[in-house]
Amino acid sequence: MKDLLPSDSPLWQYLESTVQRLLNSYGFQEIRFPLLESTELFARSIGEVTDIVEKEMYTFADRNGESVTLRPEGTASCVRACQEHQLLYNRGTLTQKLWYLGPMFRYEKPQKGRLRQFHQIGVEAFGYAGPDIDAELLMLTARLWKTLGIESAVSLQINSLGNSESRRAYRSALVAYLENYRDALDEDSQRRLNSNPLRILDSKQPETQVLLEGAPKLYDFLDSESLAHFEALQSLLNSAGLKFEVNPKLVRGLDYYSKTVFEWVTDKLGAQGTVCAGGRYDGLVEQLGGRATPGVGFAMGLERLALLLEALQAVPGEIFRTTDVYLLAVGDCQASAFQLAESLRDELPSLRLQLHCGGGGFKGQMKKADKSRAQIALILGEDERNSAEVTVKYLRDDSPQQRVKQSELAELLTRHIRMTS
Ligand code: ATP
Ligand code: MG
Repeated sequence: MKDLLPSDSPLWQYLESTVQRLLNSYGFQEIRFPLLESTELFARSIGEVTDIVEKEMYTFADRNGESVTLRPEGTASCVRACQEHQLLYNRGTLTQKLWYLGPMFRYEKPQKGRLRQFHQIGVEAFGYAGPDIDAELLMLTARLWKTLGIESAVSLQINSLGNSESRRAYRSALVAYLENYRDALDEDSQRRLNSNPLRILDSKQPETQVLLEGAPKLYDFLDSESLAHFEALQSLLNSAGLKFEVNPKLVRGLDYYSKTVFEWVTDKLGAQGTVCAGGRYDGLVEQLGGRATPGVGFAMGLERLALLLEALQAVPGEIFRTTDVYLLAVGDCQASAFQLAESLRDELPSLRLQLHCGGGGFKGQMKKADKSRAQIALILGEDERNSAEVTVKYLRDDSPQQRVKQSELAELLTRHIRMTS
């Protein structure tokens, strides 16, 4: 688990605000739910024999002896919250386009891009059965990569898992095939042969991957409805000019997925190459006790996105400039400096103004002004105060310093500083 330091926060704020602005522009609304849920919620949704539930959850008994878990992901909580507040059904099916942001917890082996407390922005759409919304989610993510300037480093993989019957049939065929090679499988895959055989497709072991080449293909077992859905999605993506690759081995690690699954992957982050992943989960709402409601969504890992932006040098330099103006109070001027600062804040609410606190002489204060990365230093000394003026010193270019009336200062700053709202 990592502390995010002040030097990290400009990048995080930039990432979060860029994603939020984009999601809002596509008509998604924010939902916030607790970090802690009853353990049963995750066991029932993610699946008892998945890695997450088997060995990654932070689970403990609360003081009342009830088993609770720090959320390892957001979809289950989102469905729970929607059901509890009748957001999915109210004398008819409702549609919802939602997003959330926050920490998730998994007891994993920490490494670059893999933490025990990490952050996701998740998106879920409920009540849409067709492939149009699947395509819309992918278009949205593609636009996000473009906005962040990382589009050349990520690529899209998609697959279809079919409905539960086609998956069951495929599962039997895969197990029958792999039983012939049981001894040649890696240890994890042998265990999964009984519990979660589809996950074997995802094995990172080269020997296992070789064995899988001759295995039956999920694609050949797809029911006709899933097949039509998958083909319609591909055709929408093609018409939109969105490049993708069909990866028949893409299965995802959570049990609730059906039909469409996808991942945005990069080769710039080593083993932790998936920056965004998701898919359709048409059975989940019903499984958690609600009326059958189609759902589709994804989550992106913010730590991995931050790493990727850094690796590609796509972090805009200006986000680290957090001060526009630094106001010096030299001599016995602190009270007047406060007055001037507050009146500037009244006139220019989005001006990022730091008023010098902590005393000291002109030189020391100028050093602080420079360090703040401000564009402009305002100097208020006794001279200036007595004539209701202020000295304006430009810190980032050669413009000569000038002395202006305090009443004209706001106008001058408006001309010189591009204010971010
Ligand atoms: P992985 O295969 O990398 O373990 P996953 O299949 O467990 O990922 P999901 O549960 O689908 O991942 O989560 C969606 C995204 O959240 C991932 O693609 C990744 O970007 C991010 N993520 C998942 N687990 C972690 C973690 N422990 N640390 C940092 N980011 C993570
Ligand atoms: Mg994982």
